[in-house]
Amino acid sequence: MTQLACVSARVTGTERLSEHLVRVRVAGEQLWTMPWGEQGPGPRADAYLKVLVPPRRGQLLDVDVSDVARWRREFMAAPPEQSGWIRTYTVRGATTVDLAGREVPELAIDVVLHGDPEHGMGPGAAWGESTLEGEDVQLLVPTGDAAWWAAWDEHRAAGQDVVLAGDETALPAVAAIVDGLDQGVRVQAGATTCAPPRRLEVAVEVPTGGDAATAAGPRALERATSSPGDRALRVRLAGGTELSWTWLPREDRARNLALELWLWARLCERTRRGWRRAEPETGSAHGTAAEDPEFVWNTASTEGRGTYWFLAAESSGVKSLRRMCVSAGVSRGDISFMGYWRLGAATE
Ligand SMILES: Cc1cc2nc3c(=O)[nH]c(=O)nc-3n(C[C@H](O)[C@H](O)[C@H](O)COP(=O)(O)OP(=O)(O)OC[C@H]3O[C@@H](n4cnc5c(N)ncnc54)[C@H](O)[C@@H]3O)c2cc1C
Repeated sequence: MTQLACVSARVTGTERLSEHLVRVRVAGEQLWTMPWGEQGPGPRADAYLKVLVPPRRGQLLDVDVSDVARWRREFMAAPPEQSGWIRTYTVRGATTVDLAGREVPELAIDVVLHGDPEHGMGPGAAWGESTLEGEDVQLLVPTGDAAWWAAWDEHRAAGQDVVLAGDETALPAVAAIVDGLDQGVRVQAGATTCAPPRRLEVAVEVPTGGDAATAAGPRALERATSSPGDRALRVRLAGGTELSWTWLPREDRARNLALELWLWARLCERTRRGWRRAEPETGSAHGTAAEDPEFVWNTASTEGRGTYWFLAAESSGVKSLRRMCVSAGVSRGDISFMGYWRLGAATE
């Protein structure tokens, strides 16, 4: 049985959150097919879906995913000007709204408006910038009993310290994880209730100071405080987690540099506190790996021992962050690292 559905939804609004981030809201009856569970639509950590960007605005494509492999082959074989493009976006938030007299799910998708003057935006960013309320959109989503497509592991984070670091494309995922913890929402824990993390240290590298906007981050930032001279915003989440949140505006510095410097400071601090180096590791017991030049995706093993490191950014950048952690003695099994996009290449 296919665990994937192609659903149609309606754009219900757009909102500019910061200099490079726009929120697109989409709603529709067919979104009930997503595996919401008893909680109904609400935050789902870093859950993601696929937006089908059509060749012409508002165009609905004929998509039959009853045989996913066949559909995928045909999709890849057709020119994008005919088949459209598939792009991955996080479900930043979810609620229900009244649409034509029916209570239906509404998803928030936060789209980064990237692009250089020479090549312009990719189709995903262009869709985010130009789509209008009332337009139709098709989404590929998990359905029925399928698990959410997500990497955050509540069991892994339970009662531990967590470090989350990412770039602007990971901001929606990181913010949704924090929102979920603050609202006591469970994503993958099933019947088990997991203790929330003790400490959550977050850093997000964003293009400019104009993107370090409270509206783009988790709701808890609205009640955060910061000490003079300290860049970190601090707030206690409803479940007791101590959140420390740092915006890292890139401005004209090299991509990923601010994240690397921030991470290095975290790793040095841990060494100063006398934290023991992990034993040398071997073999496959270190998470589920999918690492090739095209796709970097590796999730921490559930039997992790130390701080849970959750890293998501551009592929080569995130590999470099992981390398820093490992060379500082962090166990590979404690690290989830996800390449969200690739510099110089289109990414589904
Ligand atoms: C699990 C997951 C969740 C994601 N969630 C989000 C999300 O919530 N919001 C979001 O905006 N993105 C998110 N992304 C990243 C997004 O899918 C990619 O950035 C994607 O490449 C955007 O598609 P595009 O059509 O705009 O550009 P593409 O056609 O894919 O790429 C065109 C060119 O733009 C470059 N490029 C792509 N993205 C960026 C960028 N962010 N900055 C600078 N250059 C870029 C590429 O290297 C390429 O040269 C997520 C990715 C994954 C895997």
